Amino acid sequence: MIAAFEKELESQGLAGKVDLRATGCHGLCELGPNVVIYPEEIYYVHVKPEDVAEIVKETVQGKKVVDRLVYSDPASGEKAVHLSEIPFYKYQSRNLIGNNTRINPSSIDDYIGIGGYAALAKALFGMKPEQVLDEVKKANLRGRGGGGFPAGLKWETTRNAPEKEKYVIVNGHEGEPGAFMDRAVFTGNPHLVLEGLIIGAYAIGAHQGFIYTRHDSKLLKQNIDRALKQARENGLLGENILGSGFDFDVEVHFDVGIFVSGESSALMRSIEGKNPEPRPKYIRTSVSGIWDKPSNLNNVETWANVPQIIEKGAEWYTGIGTESSKGTKMISLSGNIVNSGVVEVPFGTTLRQIIFDIGGGIPGGKKLKALHFGGAMGGSIPESLIDTPLDFDALKKVGAPMGAGALMVMDEDTDMVEMARFFLTFLTNESCGKCVPCREGIQQLLKILTDICKGEGKKGDIETMEEIADVMSAASLCSLGKTATDPLRGTLKYFREEYETNIH
Ligand code: SF4
Repeated sequence: MIAAFEKELESQGLAGKVDLRATGCHGLCELGPNVVIYPEEIYYVHVKPEDVAEIVKETVQGKKVVDRLVYSDPASGEKAVHLSEIPFYKYQSRNLIGNNTRINPSSIDDYIGIGGYAALAKALFGMKPEQVLDEVKKANLRGRGGGGFPAGLKWETTRNAPEKEKYVIVNGHEGEPGAFMDRAVFTGNPHLVLEGLIIGAYAIGAHQGFIYTRHDSKLLKQNIDRALKQARENGLLGENILGSGFDFDVEVHFDVGIFVSGESSALMRSIEGKNPEPRPKYIRTSVSGIWDKPSNLNNVETWANVPQIIEKGAEWYTGIGTESSKGTKMISLSGNIVNSGVVEVPFGTTLRQIIFDIGGGIPGGKKLKALHFGGAMGGSIPESLIDTPLDFDALKKVGAPMGAGALMVMDEDTDMVEMARFFLTFLTNESCGKCVPCREGIQQLLKILTDICKGEGKKGDIETMEEIADVMSAASLCSLGKTATDPLRGTLKYFREEYETNIH
C-alpha cells in the first residue's frame, strides 16, 4: 500500500508535497487496511493498492470523497466520512492509542512532534524522583496487567528496598488468547512506552531496564529495536540523559513461546537465562527479582499511562474513570461482534456501551449470550450483567475479572461448556508442570469436562470438578494454576444447566 502511494504521488506530481506516513494499528482491525487523509480526517476502510490512484486524484488533489471507501454501518447502512463520526471511534477516549493514527512508529521526530518526551523533560528537570513517585501514587494508577495493584505502591517498594541496584521491566509478553492491545500500542507508538519506562526508572532509582516481549512478531521487534537506537542517538538513553545526570539503559529480551513466561517470577528467571518456571512469591519480586535485586514489573499499558500523568498531573488523571479505577482502559474486543479491534474507553463505561455502541452489536441479528473477560484465566458472565461498568472491582465482584483487558463476546449459539473446555485445554498445554495441584488437577478437570462435552458425564462430576478447582486455587504455586479454573467456575455459576443436561 505504501509503495502504491509513493508511486502514485510521484506520478501525479505530489512527491515531497504530501506527508505520507505508515502508521501502526488504528484499532478498527475489522475494517483494515485503513487510510486517513489529514487535515480533514477522511477515513477510508478496506483499502486496496488498486484504490490508491483514485484516492490521490479525487481526495488528495480534488478534495472529494470516494464514496465507496467510506465507512458504512452494517445494520443501518448509514455512512460516516470522518474518523470522529465513525461509531467505533466516536464513543471512545483514545488517550493512549489515539496517536497511532498520526505517527509513524519508526520516526522519533513524529513522536516528539506530538509532544513526546516532554513529560520526561519535565520529570528530569522539574521534579525530584520522590515527586514523580508521589504524582503516580496520587493518580492511583492501577497496573493494567491483571490484578490492578496500585503501580505507585509497587514502585515505592522497589525504590525503598535496601539493595542499591534496582531494575525496571516492561512486560510485553501478552500471551492471553484474545489479547492484542499491548501489541497495538507497543508496535504503533513504541516511544510512548519507552518514555514511561524512563520516567519510572528515574522515580524508582533504577539504572537498568528490560523489555520482555514476544518472539513471534517481527514488526514489534523491529519497532522496539529502532526506538531504542533512536533514543540512544538522541541522548534519551545511556549516560547523563539529556544532560540531567541520570543514567539509564534498556535491554530487550524475547519470550520462549510459552504462556507461563509472562508470570512475573518466571519472566524474571527467563531474563536471567534460566528455565522460565514460576517460584513461590513469599518474597515479592519488587523486593527480590532479577538476580535477587529489587525489580519493578509493569505491563506495556501501565507504562504507557505514565507520561500523561506527569505531563498533565494526577488531578487531571483522577478526573477520568470511577472512584476506584482511574484513567482509561484499552480492551481487545473479539468474538461474535461486528467491530472487533482495540478499544480505549474511560473506566466506568458500561459493557453494554462497549458491545453495542462501539462494537456495533452481534452479527447476523443474533442475541448476546455471554461475555468473557480476562482470557484463559478469566470469567464468563451472562447477558443480564451487561450494565456492569468497566471497573476492576465491579467486574471482579460479578466474576469476570478484567485481567489485561481481553473481552470475548459470545452469541446465542455458544456452547458454554465447550467454551470452558477450550480454555482448559489451552492451559493444560501451558501448565509448566512444576507443582502437583496444577499439573495433575488440570488434567483431571479436562478429562471430566471432555466426557461432559461428549455427553458422557456422570452424576457427581460437577461436585468433583468443584472440589478439584478448590484445591488448585488454594495450593497451586502461581496464578496460572490458581485461576485456571475461573472459566469453569464462571460457567458453572451462570450456566450450570448446560452442564447438567450433558450428565446422565
Ligand atoms: Fe507451573 Fe501450574 Fe504450578 Fe504455575 S501453577 S508453577 S504453571 S504447574
